[in-house]
Amino acid sequence: MRRVSIFGATGSIGQNTIDLIARDLERYDVVALTGGGNIAQLAQDARHLKADLAVTAYEDRLSDLRDALAGSGIEAAAGQGALIEAGARPADWVMSAIVGAAGLAPGLEALKQGATLALANKESLVCAGTLVLDTARAHGARLLPVDSEHSAVFQALVGEDMSAVERIVITASGGAFRDWPLEALRRATLEEASSHPNWNMGQRITIDSASMFNKALEVIETREFFGVEPDRIEVVVHPESIVHALVGFRDGALMAHLGAPDMRHAIGYAMHWPDRQDLPVPRLDLGQVSQLNFRHPDDARYPALRLARAVMKRGGLSGAVFNAAKERALDAFIAGRIGFLDMAATVEEVLTRFEAHPGLIDAQMTLDNVSQTDTLARRWADEVMQVRAG
Ligand code: NDP
Repeated sequence: MRRVSIFGATGSIGQNTIDLIARDLERYDVVALTGGGNIAQLAQDARHLKADLAVTAYEDRLSDLRDALAGSGIEAAAGQGALIEAGARPADWVMSAIVGAAGLAPGLEALKQGATLALANKESLVCAGTLVLDTARAHGARLLPVDSEHSAVFQALVGEDMSAVERIVITASGGAFRDWPLEALRRATLEEASSHPNWNMGQRITIDSASMFNKALEVIETREFFGVEPDRIEVVVHPESIVHALVGFRDGALMAHLGAPDMRHAIGYAMHWPDRQDLPVPRLDLGQVSQLNFRHPDDARYPALRLARAVMKRGGLSGAVFNAAKERALDAFIAGRIGFLDMAATVEEVLTRFEAHPGLIDAQMTLDNVSQTDTLARRWADEVMQVRAG
């Protein structure tokens, strides 16, 4: 029996992971499931998968969770400490699919136990890449990519020598607004930003796809995961979302990974790696696909990509600043307090403010320093947004 835990079990990635596990339940011993506010889903899945432990991130929801699990014998817990404790429960394979910087600490804890961490939570690598990679190394733990682009690169690299890699190209659908006139973006609504043309994902990543903040995070994730120089990482807009990524080699070969836009492929690959197993994902009919389009992203439309390049150049804790300011600006956009284009402008101003305090950015990358930087960046993002609102 393989011991597995799923962090962020109630979300889009978590539910896709559960879909795969539930098809083959006798092979898995489910240790811990975690969620946020969706207690009913969390309890239902914990019962179905016979988990040992279910954790909600919110302490004030503990009694709801206890009620929902009554009579099941499943342990219930709540709060940040309980999430970290879930990470400390011995497991062979852990899905890290909490959204945002909140996923960092539980994932680090799982790595400390030597678990294989399937990483959907890209924010961990953006905020604290070196810390995550060093922790994995120190504890003999393995990190496997779940983001479709990074899974694609990982698969294209099997049997290859990194020294032969010339460039990595990750594709971007362009999100909800890829064909909108630039001027119209200013008035883009929450509803419009929350609908993705190709992928069915959580609301936050869907909006981040429209603004390209998601791709900006992924460029940084690529740098951390594969250790390539930023100028060897390219982004290309590919509206069909069929080619997920390409790896270019020094002999001119370009290896592409293609597949239907279904996250169960990347999740299943990380689950069965290094083997390949049957997965219930649609098979591509290339005759039907018929056309694949690619174009360079327009920098004016997507300032997030430029900011990601600046963050990689700056290094240190600037990834944590970038992510935290982005999360806060996204909260404000979702709450209707700022416009779509104000998100990038806010993040840029927060990064500029931090530049005036190099000691903060250059502090050692420990979990404490990352979370203090995260807290400060959120506060400064709030201040910046207040000033901008006049
Ligand atoms: P969702 O919003 O669908 O789900 C997020 C999960 O995290 C839910 O279980 C949610 O609980 C939980 N959660 C929310 N806030 C907190 C918190 N503060 N502390 C602990 N748990 C919390 O997100 P996705 O599944 O779309 O994305 C998850 C991660 O995977 C993100 O990092 C995203 O970038 C990445 N990813 C997602 C892809 C996708 O296709 N969705 C593709 C590639 C990467 P609840 O819902 O119960 O409140």
